[in-house]
Amino acid sequence: MAVEEEDLLARLLRHNAAFRARAEASPPAGDGRPRRALLILTCMDARLTCLVPAALGLEDGDAHVVRTPGALIPGPQDGALEAIVVSVARYGTRDILVLGHTDCAMEAIDGPQVRRQLQAQGVDPSRLADWEQGAGLGLEAWLRAAGEPEAAVRATCRQLRAHPLIPSEVRIHGGVLDTGSGAVRLVVDGRGPGPG
Ligand SMILES: [Zn+2]
Repeated sequence: MAVEEEDLLARLLRHNAAFRARAEASPPAGDGRPRRALLILTCMDARLTCLVPAALGLEDGDAHVVRTPGALIPGPQDGALEAIVVSVARYGTRDILVLGHTDCAMEAIDGPQVRRQLQAQGVDPSRLADWEQGAGLGLEAWLRAAGEPEAAVRATCRQLRAHPLIPSEVRIHGGVLDTGSGAVRLVVDGRGPGPG
């Protein structure tokens, strides 16, 4: 496994050397502020890395993109929430799009199976138990399944709308991306006078 990892890393670095040597390679302009004052919360699914920006017509510098398993925000101290608050307060984000997707592995993630797999990969059960005690919840509760994407997106939009650190002027939208066609179906429209 170590050899494979080394080969992958070497390949990444080789590519980077060639990338930097090309005259046209230049870093994106700007200071990290999203030009469209937009943050997208979407899933970590590897298929979405290029698909989400392509499907929405976004380029480097246009938006913050935060990715979590299932586009969920598990808890009030979650890092994704920190990113959203920083995006709004520090970078002036005015629109948030929660973007779930079809065929998401988090719809029905199997906590007991993850526990077995971690232990098969050498994670010490007693250290795992210590971690659960410190976290105040079990691994299976922490790795909660997202369920059906539309309902999950609606729930996350409600969670963000109710959050005390997100100003009411920030529009919160929700959509589901079809990973087969690239079509985005809007399920929560945060525009307009009513609450999103
Ligand atoms: Zn997913």
